[in-house]
Parts: sequence; structure tokens; C-alpha cells
Amino acid sequence: MVNSFEAAKEKLTAYLTETKKSKTIARYNVLKAAYEQESCFTAEQLYQQMNGKERVCYATIYNTLLILLECNLIVKYRLDNDMSQYYKVASVTDYHHFLVCSECGAMRKFTDVRLQNTIRGKIFKGFKAQKHTLAIYGLCTACARKKKNKK
Ligand SMILES: [Zn+2]
Repeated sequence: MVNSFEAAKEKLTAYLTETKKSKTIARYNVLKAAYEQESCFTAEQLYQQMNGKERVCYATIYNTLLILLECNLIVKYRLDNDMSQYYKVASVTDYHHFLVCSECGAMRKFTDVRLQNTIRGKIFKGFKAQKHTLAIYGLCTACARKKKNKK
């Protein structure tokens, strides 16, 4: 996940610059620790893991997680019968969203980070989701024009 971490770092830097927040080493360390998680994690888990290596206070971790949520680098959710707040790294690579023309079959990719995170943030009982494909069917411009001219 090296490449996606580099991309995430760039996105965080851009966000911190834009919102005039300071680019502290601790914030980047929290991002790195989040990217090292195999699956979902809680702020407490991150805190315990990070303090094995370096000293970082819980408030810093919690505040950084809020920043990462704001710039869509992670998603948060709750599990049934569990009061803990879970977080998961939002990947921008393993998903596909398409617009498909039902007349000629033309396909076009599109990106919607919020939609992607909503789907990725979903937890299914007894099923571990890995990736998803979403297709929206309709008419491309050319086919829509042809249909209109026939009428
Ligand atoms: Zn078409």
C-alpha cells in the first residue's frame, strides 16, 4: 500500500495547507499508523500501538482522525451491538464506478469519493467485502440524440 500512502500523504498536506492547520509530524505518524492497519481500528487501538514505538497523546490521535475524516482519507462506522467507533482507511484504488449506455454498451468511468466511502464503510454480517463495481445504466449522448431524431 506504499503508493496509496504516498497519495494520502499528499492529500493530507494539501488539506492542512488549505485549512491553515499545522503540518505536525504527529499527524503524519497517525496517518501512517492508520495505513498500517490490516482492517478497521479504533482510536484506542491506534493509541496503544503507536505508544509502543513513540510517545503520542490520545487527544492528538483523536484530533488527527477527525482531520483524516474531513479530507475523506478514512471512513468511520459502528458495528451492531458495539458502542466503539471504528475507522477504516478509504482506498481510492480498488473500486470501479461506471456509466453504461444500454443501447450501444459504451462505458465511462466516474469518481465519487463520498459514494465510494459510503459503500466501503458498510459492514456486512458474515461477509468481508473486498471491492465493488457499480454500474449506472442509461443512454449516452449519441444514442440519446438518435432516439430523439427517430421520434
Ligand atoms: Zn450509446
